[in-house]
Amino acid sequence: MRGTSHVAATLAMVLTAAAGPTAFWQSKPESSLTVIIAEVPGDTHTPVTITGPDGYRVDITKTAVLRQLEAGRYTVTAETVSNPLGDMTPQLREKVVDLARNDHQGVAFTYQFEAPALSPVGAPDAYAIQTGTPTNPVRWNPCSTITWGPVLPLPAAEEQRLTLAFAKASIASGIPFRRVAPGESAQVSVNLTMAPGDRVSGEGEMYFSDSGTGRTIADRGQISGVIGTETSDELREALYLHEIGHVLGITHVPQDDQVMHEVVDESDAKGFAIGDTNGLRLVGAAAGCLDTPLGAKEVRGTLNGSTLTVTWFQPASQPPVVKTTLHLTNRTALGRASGEPAWDKRFVGAGAGPREASATVPANVCDPGISVTIAATNANGTTETPVVLSGCPK
Ligand SMILES: [Zn+2]
Repeated sequence: MRGTSHVAATLAMVLTAAAGPTAFWQSKPESSLTVIIAEVPGDTHTPVTITGPDGYRVDITKTAVLRQLEAGRYTVTAETVSNPLGDMTPQLREKVVDLARNDHQGVAFTYQFEAPALSPVGAPDAYAIQTGTPTNPVRWNPCSTITWGPVLPLPAAEEQRLTLAFAKASIASGIPFRRVAPGESAQVSVNLTMAPGDRVSGEGEMYFSDSGTGRTIADRGQISGVIGTETSDELREALYLHEIGHVLGITHVPQDDQVMHEVVDESDAKGFAIGDTNGLRLVGAAAGCLDTPLGAKEVRGTLNGSTLTVTWFQPASQPPVVKTTLHLTNRTALGRASGEPAWDKRFVGAGAGPREASATVPANVCDPGISVTIAATNANGTTETPVVLSGCPK
């Protein structure tokens, strides 16, 4: 039973009633509430409670889609959480949602460190944005963990210093970092060379791509450095902080009391100064999430001749899904070819809830080399979900 077919529901009721005098029809509740919880630094548990009609109560700690809800008023509450880096408060403590029948809504929770560790050093406006402008900087999605890892194994002490530097960057920006497990590829690769000498030098880069929606979001970074074996712990840590600053999207300032001054010195190991921190907040959690859509659920495709009918459930996303398209990708020895068959009946696939759409597809759609996905797009980008096909010729 799909929520949109009121006519079918009425018909089913008549048929059921005709089956016997005691039969009655009760439709399953079809509303949903998606609770999006931003990832936060330090593997912190972020408990969120949802209460609703008839004593409904659910406790979650990460993004969840609550299905088959009765219509009514729901209250979603989040609390302050603690981790070794400090206390984090949700930017929104409580949200009341009135769900109608066949209604699909979403709420999002982000967290920030209660008092960003502002070093008293320097001027508040001593920062510079690397790409874009202070009001529209190119930045990462601060609500999703960024992974980092060394290209080659590092001395244990260097690992520790880098871990500390990433933790300081988390506190200043609100962005969670995680060191990758062995064998896992990292979004930010760290390539350090230890060399004789009393100097350090390095480079930090942020890479970004246009998601096809006009918004450019950082998705990869690189830190490289040459570390003199006779340099102090403080100078090394200062260099790591500086390069992580570049990776997060801030750049050089003339003020030499800031970590983002072109030349680092031992005093910068104290941590990001006021100007640095204000720059990092413009590219960090305080600037808001840049989430792409949550993936579609229960995606099924039924082939009938050359018509493929796809049904799915699109969870509510923030920002909302504006378009869902059908993708066919064929990987062959010669490379990769993809097609985008148009949905029939001008289906646009916007919004959330149960969805159904049909398209005329090529005869080879069932070939093992072809992958079929649906791609949900919002203002921040696209999320693809595989379509499980049935009805293929045997
Ligand atoms: Zn630099």
